[in-house]
Amino acid sequence: MRRKLIIGNWKMNGSPQSVTALAEDLSSGVNNLMLGSVDAVVCPPSVYTAAVVELLAGTSIQVGAQNVCAEALESGAFTGEVSAQMFAQLGCKFGLVGHSERREYYGESDAVVATKCAHLLAQNITPVLCVGESLAQRDAGDALDVVSGQVAAIIEVIGIAQFLSVVVAYEPVWAIGTGRTASPQQAQEVHAAIRQCVAGYDSVTAERMQILYGGSVKGANAAELFAMEDIDGALVGGAALDAEEFCVICKSAE
Ligand code: PEP
Repeated sequence: MRRKLIIGNWKMNGSPQSVTALAEDLSSGVNNLMLGSVDAVVCPPSVYTAAVVELLAGTSIQVGAQNVCAEALESGAFTGEVSAQMFAQLGCKFGLVGHSERREYYGESDAVVATKCAHLLAQNITPVLCVGESLAQRDAGDALDVVSGQVAAIIEVIGIAQFLSVVVAYEPVWAIGTGRTASPQQAQEVHAAIRQCVAGYDSVTAERMQILYGGSVKGANAAELFAMEDIDGALVGGAALDAEEFCVICKSAE
């Protein structure tokens, strides 16, 4: 039985005041839920990582990174970047890689995404590998091939043994921040294809790995998504900025 995992991606939002208020509200909200089979994680902007780690210390909510430097694992002359080692030293346990916004606005290729995965793994941080098709690719009937290709590209570089420690997040690009959610059946079809792709390398890894759904998940649609066999949680954007909404999503996963 796979545990459920709910990850909030705060993206580039928040001020010192609002981030503090959100972390405090989450800390009491999630605590009251007394989650048993669900893990909750938040990924603040990196400038707030240390503060959020401190604010959430002693709660069950873990902290993750939204992005990580590809060029070096520890330190070096890479202005503006934050290394996997730096996130690890702050206590981060998860790191997003390959989010569609990074692929689109920063031109991140599968090769770069694979390097970032490897850096996070080297620092004992669980990479959350985001994959997903565009609307044009879905309309062309290519969704399953595109997504399986993105997953396979990473396995080919880091190896299937390492992939056991990776979480996959299926995020159809057309459903991110649009209010348009994939139907539970559409999401399930892709999640099953991802598991089948991984099973082509190793069936035990395929069965154990967590596959999250992301794309306009909110309190109102979470339960029906989590009821699907291969959906093991959610990567939440907009709704993660509202502590109450995030708690409803976490509760729906129990
Ligand atoms: C995301 O950015 O990962 C995401 C899923 O955003 P939203 O929930 O706002 O669609």
